[in-house]
Amino acid sequence: MQVKANDYPKESARVLREEPGVRESVTAATLNFDGKRRQMYAEVDSEEWRDFAEGVKNHVLSNLGTYLTQAEAALQRNGVQVHWAEDAEAAQRIVADIAKANQVQRVVKAKTMVSEELGINPMLEGLGMEVLETDLGEYIIQLLDQPPSHIIGPAIHLSLEQIRKLFHERFDTPPEAAPELLAATARKLLREGFLKADMGISGGNFLVAETGTLALIENEGNIRLSTSAPRIHVALVGLEKLLPRFSDLSVFLSLTARAATGQRLGTFVSLIQGPRRAGESDGPEEVHVVLVDNGRSSVLADREAWETLRCVRCGACLNACPVYRQTGGHAYGYVYSGPIGAILAPGLVGLENTKPLPYASSLCGACFQACPVRIPIPKLLLTWRNRAVEQGLQPQLEAAAIKGYAAAMTRPWAYNLGSRALRMLPKEALDNTVLPVVKAWTEGRAGIKPSPKSFRELWDEGI
Ligand code: SF4
Repeated sequence: MQVKANDYPKESARVLREEPGVRESVTAATLNFDGKRRQMYAEVDSEEWRDFAEGVKNHVLSNLGTYLTQAEAALQRNGVQVHWAEDAEAAQRIVADIAKANQVQRVVKAKTMVSEELGINPMLEGLGMEVLETDLGEYIIQLLDQPPSHIIGPAIHLSLEQIRKLFHERFDTPPEAAPELLAATARKLLREGFLKADMGISGGNFLVAETGTLALIENEGNIRLSTSAPRIHVALVGLEKLLPRFSDLSVFLSLTARAATGQRLGTFVSLIQGPRRAGESDGPEEVHVVLVDNGRSSVLADREAWETLRCVRCGACLNACPVYRQTGGHAYGYVYSGPIGAILAPGLVGLENTKPLPYASSLCGACFQACPVRIPIPKLLLTWRNRAVEQGLQPQLEAAAIKGYAAAMTRPWAYNLGSRALRMLPKEALDNTVLPVVKAWTEGRAGIKPSPKSFRELWDEGI
């Protein structure tokens, strides 16, 4: 996929300026998710659960080769065809070959972020196949030709009014249609898609090495249909999605649902053990699992950034992030947005292509508090910032300005002189759109208004 993360400062300012509804929709939805997540964490000994999850993931990542080999053998025992994709190009080739070998014309997709990462939809459409997203949010953004704005809520940036308008224009539903009618309209169209599809594509929340079980969590039932109705099921699974034992699922399934949507468990949990067996009346004839690297090995080999691979893609860090809430995900210019995107994107596609993202944070630490696998996101944001400076990716002017600021703040006479000079500047000079250096930070925010008197002066006056 195209990476436009270096446009983040410009794009985030544009969203704030031109699409104020995005902030409203994203803030409302993420506050709701985050509130429910807190309730669900409080209901159990979440610290103990998080300790467990962190420990299991660290163990898998430290022994990834062993568990990948075990998973491959278990999948093959179950009758699953296993493929290895080093990069996006290889993954596209594998999926295309499977589709061509089976004369696939129609594909249904369950929501999968890794397929967005790999550019699977445009590739299949380029081959003349019809691709239908079946998650309601994904379906809506597919109609709008937009990428997902959130890991688990792809259409989180849209208001009900915008969706009503879209459905009215596309399907002639009443302009004031109730959400239930919109969902029923989509359900009818999608159901026809499931019945006609030759191939279903999914991701995988977890892959159990011990048993070769592919676990998928959802709330709409579309994943179950996408993986069982068509003749062929292809699952795209990142290397980091492994769990050692079947029993690990008991914590991971519930912890992920609690973190993601504030549920005790997803409404549907599918545990896939291979294709339809003799005597069974439903299920796909072929199941393929594509194990995807696409930069993950180099993140694993990174002594500082490897912990990023503990991520279960629950989206809790996005919901907790006051910066993400302002713009939603599109401004980040990469498939993974918010705090996880800011630390994963540099590792997967290079810091030179994503350098503003580690700066898209106030370092408040809310993401770390929310993360079910305790990824030290604030620490990793600083790691990538340090690297940006070391590699000369940050403007020298900005570094000089910070040095000057630090010098002024640590010398009272310089601080007093600076603040007096600031107050003497004409109002126009403090407009955020004209200030040099500061402009990059302040565009999209209210102008600077220095107090007529300093704190010290007010203090001396006894106010
Ligand atoms: S970093 Fe943590 S909170 Fe964010 S998506 Fe990954 S697992 Fe969830």
